Amino acid sequence: MSGHVTDRLALAAAEALDPGEQRRVDAHLRECPDCAAQAEQWRRLGDGLRDLPTPVPSPGLLARTRATIERRQAEREEQTWNRAALGFLIVFGWTLTGVAWLLLELLVGELALRFERPLGPTIIWFGAYLVAGWVAAAAATVLLGRRTHEEGRLA
Ligand SMILES: [Zn+2]
Repeated sequence: MSGHVTDRLALAAAEALDPGEQRRVDAHLRECPDCAAQAEQWRRLGDGLRDLPTPVPSPGLLARTRATIERRQAEREEQTWNRAALGFLIVFGWTLTGVAWLLLELLVGELALRFERPLGPTIIWFGAYLVAGWVAAAAATVLLGRRTHEEGRLA
């Protein structure tokens, strides 16, 4: 009795051996009660595993999962775009304000030079420009804050 086939028994039970090897294992099992007993255990285990019910996801669950994944993907893309847009708004707002301060400096210089000249509509346009810059920056800051808050709550 030479060359036990214990290392081949699991594969034999799974019917995963090539035909030549399977014949060799079968021949050995006919002569070796030890290996035959082990082979029987492997066969029972294999049968038991085959009898286990295979879980099949319902079509509804599959569709819901796919929809959820697609929705998350869309949300992530939208969040990236929103952050970029709000970042631009903030930079735009602060640039507007910075330019406004430069213009104010120029205007004050101009006022000093031509003190008696009436400014009329110029000062109104300048005021509107300044307020627009502040409002844009403030709105962007509020929006970004709210967005960050919502994302934090969702995460
Ligand atoms: Zn044997």
